[in-house]
Amino acid sequence: AAKAAGRNQFRYFTRFMQEEAHRRLHLRRELRKALRRGQLYVHFQPVVDLRSHRIAKAEALLRWRHPKLGAVSPAEFIPLAEESGLINAIGDWVFMQAAPWSRRWGAQTGQPFQISVNRSPVQFLSKQNSPDWLTYLDKLGLPGNSISVEITESVLLNATSLVAETLLQYRDAGIQVALDDFGTGYSSMAYLQRFDIDYLKIDQSFVRDIETNAGSRAIAESIIVMAHRLGLKVIAEGIETAGQYAILDAAGCDYGQGYLFSRPVPPDEFEQLLASVPAQGGSGAAGRLHFR
Ligand code: C2E
Ligand code: MG
Ligand code: MG
Ligand code: MG
Repeated sequence: AAKAAGRNQFRYFTRFMQEEAHRRLHLRRELRKALRRGQLYVHFQPVVDLRSHRIAKAEALLRWRHPKLGAVSPAEFIPLAEESGLINAIGDWVFMQAAPWSRRWGAQTGQPFQISVNRSPVQFLSKQNSPDWLTYLDKLGLPGNSISVEITESVLLNATSLVAETLLQYRDAGIQVALDDFGTGYSSMAYLQRFDIDYLKIDQSFVRDIETNAGSRAIAESIIVMAHRLGLKVIAEGIETAGQYAILDAAGCDYGQGYLFSRPVPPDEFEQLLASVPAQGGSGAAGRLHFR
Protein backbone atom coordinates (compact mmCIF):
# COMPACT_ATOMS: atom_id res chain seq x y z
CA ALA A 1 0.00 0.00 0.00
CA ALA A 2 2.85 2.28 0.89
CA LYS A 3 4.41 1.63 -2.46
CA ALA A 4 1.15 2.38 -4.27
CA ALA A 5 0.73 5.58 -2.29
CA GLY A 6 4.25 6.59 -3.22
CA ARG A 7 3.50 5.90 -6.83
CA ASN A 8 0.34 7.97 -6.66
CA GLN A 9 2.22 10.79 -5.06
CA PHE A 10 4.81 10.62 -7.77
CA ARG A 11 2.15 10.66 -10.46
CA TYR A 12 0.51 13.61 -8.78
CA PHE A 13 3.84 15.39 -8.61
CA THR A 14 4.61 14.69 -12.26
CA ARG A 15 1.23 16.01 -13.31
CA PHE A 16 1.74 19.08 -11.21
CA MET A 17 5.06 19.74 -12.92
CA GLN A 18 3.53 19.23 -16.33
CA GLU A 19 0.77 21.70 -15.52
CA GLU A 20 3.29 24.20 -14.26
CA ALA A 21 5.39 23.86 -17.40
CA HIS A 22 2.29 24.20 -19.50
CA ARG A 23 1.20 27.36 -17.69
CA ARG A 24 4.62 28.90 -18.13
CA LEU A 25 4.57 28.14 -21.84
CA HIS A 26 1.08 29.57 -22.16
CA LEU A 27 1.98 32.72 -20.19
CA ARG A 28 5.08 33.26 -22.27
CA ARG A 29 3.04 33.11 -25.47
CA GLU A 30 0.31 35.38 -24.12
CA LEU A 31 2.80 37.87 -22.69
CA ARG A 32 4.26 38.41 -26.15
CA LYS A 33 0.87 39.74 -27.24
CA ALA A 34 -0.01 41.53 -24.02
CA LEU A 35 1.59 44.86 -24.86
CA ARG A 36 -0.09 45.07 -28.25
CA ARG A 37 -3.42 44.08 -26.78
CA GLY A 38 -3.34 46.73 -24.09
CA GLN A 39 -3.28 44.28 -21.19
CA LEU A 40 -0.33 45.92 -19.42
CA TYR A 41 -0.66 48.78 -16.95
CA VAL A 42 1.63 50.72 -14.69
CA HIS A 43 0.62 51.30 -11.09
CA PHE A 44 2.32 53.61 -8.61
CA GLN A 45 3.09 53.10 -4.94
CA PRO A 46 3.99 56.08 -2.75
CA VAL A 47 7.36 56.19 -1.05
CA VAL A 48 6.70 57.96 2.24
CA ASP A 49 9.08 60.14 4.24
CA LEU A 50 8.86 58.43 7.62
CA ARG A 51 9.62 61.62 9.55
CA SER A 52 7.17 64.01 7.89
CA HIS A 53 4.58 61.42 6.73
CA ARG A 54 4.66 63.03 3.30
CA ILE A 55 4.83 61.35 -0.10
CA ALA A 56 8.41 61.74 -1.27
CA LYS A 57 8.18 59.89 -4.59
CA ALA A 58 6.60 56.88 -6.29
CA GLU A 59 7.67 53.45 -7.53
CA ALA A 60 6.26 52.34 -10.88
CA LEU A 61 5.11 48.70 -10.80
CA LEU A 62 3.98 46.74 -13.83
CA ARG A 63 0.57 45.03 -13.90
CA TRP A 64 -0.80 42.45 -16.35
CA ARG A 65 -4.51 41.80 -16.62
CA HIS A 66 -5.32 38.94 -18.98
CA PRO A 67 -8.95 38.54 -20.14
CA LYS A 68 -9.06 34.83 -19.26
CA LEU A 69 -6.31 34.38 -16.68
CA GLY A 70 -7.11 37.55 -14.73
CA ALA A 71 -4.35 39.42 -12.94
CA VAL A 72 -0.99 37.69 -13.28
CA SER A 73 1.63 38.62 -10.68
CA PRO A 74 4.89 40.27 -11.83
CA ALA A 75 6.65 37.78 -9.57
CA GLU A 76 5.40 35.13 -12.02
CA PHE A 77 5.67 36.87 -15.40
CA ILE A 78 8.76 39.06 -15.02
CA PRO A 79 11.07 36.01 -14.84
CA LEU A 80 9.42 34.66 -18.01
CA ALA A 81 9.93 38.00 -19.73
CA GLU A 82 13.57 37.91 -18.65
CA GLU A 83 14.08 34.42 -20.06
CA SER A 84 12.65 35.36 -23.43
CA GLY A 85 14.31 38.77 -23.65
CA LEU A 86 10.88 40.39 -23.85
CA ILE A 87 11.78 42.35 -20.70
CA ASN A 88 13.73 44.79 -22.89
CA ALA A 89 10.63 45.91 -24.79
CA ILE A 90 8.37 45.74 -21.73
CA GLY A 91 10.88 47.52 -19.50
CA ASP A 92 11.27 50.35 -22.00
CA TRP A 93 7.49 50.59 -22.24
CA VAL A 94 7.13 50.87 -18.45
CA PHE A 95 9.78 53.58 -18.39
CA MET A 96 8.07 55.56 -21.15
CA GLN A 97 4.70 55.23 -19.44
CA ALA A 98 6.03 56.17 -16.03
CA ALA A 99 8.43 59.04 -16.72
CA PRO A 100 5.88 61.64 -17.91
CA TRP A 101 4.04 61.42 -14.59
CA SER A 102 7.08 63.00 -12.96
CA ARG A 103 6.37 66.23 -14.81
CA ARG A 104 2.67 66.17 -14.08
CA TRP A 105 3.04 65.39 -10.38
CA GLY A 106 5.92 67.82 -10.10
CA ALA A 107 3.63 70.54 -11.44
CA GLN A 108 0.85 69.40 -9.10
CA THR A 109 3.06 69.55 -6.01
CA GLY A 110 5.19 72.50 -7.02
CA GLN A 111 8.47 70.64 -6.72
CA PRO A 112 10.44 67.92 -8.49
CA PHE A 113 8.73 64.56 -8.18
CA GLN A 114 10.86 61.47 -8.64
CA ILE A 115 9.55 58.28 -10.23
CA SER A 116 11.38 55.07 -9.52
CA VAL A 117 11.54 52.38 -12.21
CA ASN A 118 12.73 48.77 -11.85
CA ARG A 119 15.38 47.60 -14.28
CA SER A 120 16.10 43.91 -14.67
CA PRO A 121 19.67 42.56 -14.91
CA VAL A 122 18.80 41.42 -18.45
CA GLN A 123 18.20 45.04 -19.44
CA PHE A 124 21.86 45.76 -18.71
CA LEU A 125 23.01 43.25 -21.32
CA SER A 126 22.11 45.22 -24.39
CA LYS A 127 24.21 48.16 -25.41
CA GLN A 128 21.80 50.71 -26.82
CA ASN A 129 19.29 50.45 -24.01
CA SER A 130 20.39 53.06 -21.56
CA PRO A 131 21.14 55.95 -23.93
CA ASP A 132 17.54 55.53 -25.11
CA TRP A 133 16.25 56.33 -21.64
CA LEU A 134 18.44 59.43 -21.48
CA THR A 135 17.28 60.55 -24.91
CA TYR A 136 13.67 60.04 -23.92
CA LEU A 137 14.07 62.10 -20.72
CA ASP A 138 15.72 64.79 -22.78
CA LYS A 139 12.81 64.78 -25.21
CA LEU A 140 10.41 65.19 -22.31
CA GLY A 141 12.55 68.02 -20.97
CA LEU A 142 12.92 66.20 -17.67
CA PRO A 143 16.10 66.38 -15.58
CA GLY A 144 17.83 63.08 -14.77
CA ASN A 145 16.86 63.18 -11.13
CA SER A 146 13.20 62.83 -12.15
CA ILE A 147 14.06 59.15 -12.28
CA SER A 148 15.62 56.63 -9.99
CA VAL A 149 16.45 53.19 -11.34
CA GLU A 150 15.99 50.18 -9.05
CA ILE A 151 18.49 47.40 -9.60
CA THR A 152 19.23 44.24 -7.65
CA GLU A 153 22.54 43.19 -6.17
CA SER A 154 22.98 40.59 -8.91
CA VAL A 155 23.56 43.42 -11.41
CA LEU A 156 26.60 44.56 -9.43
CA LEU A 157 27.89 41.15 -8.43
CA ASN A 158 29.47 40.36 -11.77
CA ALA A 159 29.35 43.88 -13.10
CA THR A 160 30.57 43.90 -16.67
CA SER A 161 32.09 47.01 -18.18
CA LEU A 162 28.69 47.61 -19.77
CA VAL A 163 27.03 47.75 -16.35
CA ALA A 164 29.72 50.07 -15.03
CA GLU A 165 29.38 52.26 -18.12
CA THR A 166 25.62 52.45 -17.78
CA LEU A 167 25.84 53.38 -14.11
CA LEU A 168 28.34 56.11 -14.98
CA GLN A 169 25.94 57.43 -17.62
CA TYR A 170 23.23 57.55 -14.97
CA ARG A 171 25.50 59.43 -12.61
CA ASP A 172 26.45 61.95 -15.27
CA ALA A 173 22.80 62.43 -16.18
CA GLY A 174 21.74 62.79 -12.53
CA ILE A 175 19.59 59.65 -12.56
CA GLN A 176 19.61 58.11 -9.09
CA VAL A 177 20.16 54.44 -8.35
CA ALA A 178 18.44 52.32 -5.71
CA LEU A 179 19.59 48.87 -4.64
CA ASP A 180 16.40 46.80 -4.38
CA ASP A 181 15.72 43.82 -2.09
CA PHE A 182 18.89 44.63 -0.15
CA GLY A 183 20.05 41.93 2.24
CA THR A 184 18.69 38.95 0.32
CA GLY A 185 21.39 38.66 -2.34
CA TYR A 186 25.11 38.67 -1.85
CA SER A 187 25.19 41.95 0.00
CA SER A 188 28.84 42.53 -0.76
CA MET A 189 29.84 45.75 0.94
CA ALA A 190 32.57 46.38 -1.65
CA TYR A 191 30.25 47.41 -4.43
CA LEU A 192 28.57 50.01 -2.23
CA GLN A 193 31.89 51.82 -2.39
CA ARG A 194 32.65 51.04 -6.00
CA PHE A 195 29.39 52.18 -7.55
CA ASP A 196 27.38 55.34 -7.16
CA ILE A 197 24.33 54.11 -5.25
CA ASP A 198 21.85 56.56 -3.73
CA TYR A 199 19.33 54.36 -1.91
CA LEU A 200 19.29 50.98 -0.20
CA LYS A 201 15.90 49.29 -0.08
CA ILE A 202 15.62 46.95 2.90
CA ASP A 203 13.95 43.79 1.64
CA GLN A 204 10.45 43.14 2.89
CA SER A 205 11.44 39.76 4.34
CA PHE A 206 13.25 41.63 7.15
CA VAL A 207 10.41 44.10 7.65
CA ARG A 208 7.76 41.38 7.78
CA ASP A 209 8.89 39.91 11.11
CA ILE A 210 10.83 42.88 12.47
CA GLU A 211 8.49 43.02 15.50
CA THR A 212 9.02 39.40 16.51
CA ASN A 213 12.39 38.33 15.15
CA ALA A 214 15.41 39.89 16.86
CA GLY A 215 17.65 38.81 13.98
CA SER A 216 15.58 40.57 11.32
CA ARG A 217 15.49 43.67 13.47
CA ALA A 218 19.26 43.60 13.98
CA ILE A 219 19.83 43.23 10.24
CA ALA A 220 17.47 46.09 9.37
CA GLU A 221 18.98 48.38 11.99
CA SER A 222 22.53 47.53 10.86
CA ILE A 223 21.68 48.22 7.21
CA ILE A 224 20.39 51.65 8.24
CA VAL A 225 23.52 52.52 10.25
CA MET A 226 25.85 51.29 7.53
CA ALA A 227 23.94 53.06 4.74
CA HIS A 228 24.00 56.36 6.61
CA ARG A 229 27.72 56.06 7.31
CA LEU A 230 28.20 55.64 3.55
CA GLY A 231 25.96 58.60 2.80
CA LEU A 232 23.04 56.59 1.37
CA LYS A 233 19.35 56.95 2.12
CA VAL A 234 17.32 53.93 3.21
CA ILE A 235 13.88 52.85 2.03
CA ALA A 236 12.09 50.03 3.90
CA GLU A 237 9.82 47.86 1.75
CA GLY A 238 6.61 46.14 2.77
CA ILE A 239 5.62 48.12 5.88
CA GLU A 240 2.18 46.80 6.82
CA THR A 241 1.79 47.58 10.53
CA ALA A 242 2.19 50.60 12.79
CA GLY A 243 4.57 48.51 14.90
CA GLN A 244 6.91 47.91 11.95
CA TYR A 245 6.76 51.60 11.10
CA ALA A 246 7.60 52.62 14.70
CA ILE A 247 10.67 50.39 14.87
CA LEU A 248 12.01 51.56 11.50
CA ASP A 249 11.33 55.21 12.26
CA ALA A 250 13.10 54.89 15.63
CA ALA A 251 16.05 53.25 13.86
CA GLY A 252 16.38 56.31 11.64
CA CYS A 253 15.08 54.77 8.41
CA ASP A 254 14.44 57.58 5.91
CA TYR A 255 11.60 56.30 3.75
CA GLY A 256 9.05 53.51 3.66
CA GLN A 257 6.73 51.78 1.27
CA GLY A 258 3.92 49.43 2.15
CA TYR A 259 0.25 48.68 2.53
CA LEU A 260 0.21 50.68 5.79
CA PHE A 261 0.48 53.79 3.60
CA SER A 262 -0.96 52.62 0.30
CA ARG A 263 -0.99 49.72 -2.13
CA PRO A 264 0.28 50.36 -5.65
CA VAL A 265 -2.60 52.17 -7.41
CA PRO A 266 -3.46 53.37 -10.93
CA PRO A 267 -2.16 56.86 -11.84
CA ASP A 268 -5.51 58.62 -11.37
CA GLU A 269 -5.83 57.21 -7.86
CA PHE A 270 -2.26 58.13 -7.10
CA GLU A 271 -3.01 61.65 -8.18
CA GLN A 272 -5.95 61.84 -5.77
CA LEU A 273 -3.74 60.51 -2.99
CA LEU A 274 -1.16 63.15 -3.80
CA ALA A 275 -3.78 65.87 -3.80
CA SER A 276 -4.91 64.84 -0.31
CA VAL A 277 -1.35 64.63 1.00
CA PRO A 278 1.09 67.40 0.02
CA ALA A 279 4.37 66.04 -1.21
CA GLN A 280 7.71 66.50 0.46
CA GLY A 281 8.54 70.00 1.56
CA GLY A 282 5.02 71.36 1.76
CA SER A 283 4.39 73.16 5.03
CA GLY A 284 1.87 72.69 7.80
CA ALA A 285 0.52 69.60 9.48
CA ALA A 286 -2.60 69.37 7.33
CA GLY A 287 -2.74 66.63 4.76
CA ARG A 288 -0.20 64.32 6.26
CA LEU A 289 -0.78 60.63 5.85
CA HIS A 290 -2.45 59.42 9.01
CA PHE A 291 -1.34 55.94 9.73
CA ARG A 292 -0.62 55.91 13.44
P1 C2E B 1 10.01 45.09 -6.03
O1 C2E B 1 10.61 46.03 -7.02
O2 C2E B 1 10.83 44.77 -4.82
O3 C2E B 1 8.62 45.75 -5.64
C1 C2E B 1 8.03 45.66 -4.38
C2 C2E B 1 6.91 44.65 -4.35
O4 C2E B 1 6.34 44.63 -3.03
C3 C2E B 1 5.74 44.97 -5.28
O5 C2E B 1 5.24 43.71 -5.72
C4 C2E B 1 4.75 45.65 -4.34
O6 C2E B 1 3.42 45.57 -4.80
C5 C2E B 1 4.95 44.82 -3.10
N1 C2E B 1 4.54 45.50 -1.87
C6 C2E B 1 4.54 46.82 -1.60
N2 C2E B 1 4.11 47.07 -0.33
C7 C2E B 1 3.84 45.86 0.21
C8 C2E B 1 3.36 45.45 1.52
O7 C2E B 1 3.11 46.24 2.43
N3 C2E B 1 3.20 44.09 1.70
C9 C2E B 1 3.48 43.18 0.72
N4 C2E B 1 3.30 41.89 1.00
N5 C2E B 1 3.93 43.54 -0.51
C10 C2E B 1 4.12 44.86 -0.76
P2 C2E B 1 4.79 43.48 -7.22
O8 C2E B 1 4.19 44.71 -7.80
O9 C2E B 1 4.03 42.20 -7.26
O10 C2E B 1 6.19 43.26 -7.97
C11 C2E B 1 7.02 42.17 -7.66
C12 C2E B 1 8.38 42.35 -8.30
O11 C2E B 1 8.26 42.30 -9.73
C13 C2E B 1 9.04 43.69 -8.00
O12 C2E B 1 9.64 43.69 -6.73
C14 C2E B 1 10.03 43.77 -9.15
O13 C2E B 1 11.17 43.00 -8.87
C15 C2E B 1 9.26 43.11 -10.28
N6 C2E B 1 8.68 44.18 -11.12
C16 C2E B 1 7.49 44.83 -11.02
N7 C2E B 1 7.35 45.75 -12.01
C17 C2E B 1 8.49 45.69 -12.76
C18 C2E B 1 8.97 46.39 -13.93
O14 C2E B 1 8.35 47.32 -14.47
N8 C2E B 1 10.21 46.01 -14.42
C19 C2E B 1 10.95 45.03 -13.82
N9 C2E B 1 12.15 44.70 -14.36
N10 C2E B 1 10.54 44.37 -12.72
C20 C2E B 1 9.32 44.69 -12.19
MG1 MG C 1 11.55 47.82 -6.79
MG1 MG D 1 23.91 59.14 -7.68
MG1 MG E 1 11.91 44.74 -3.42
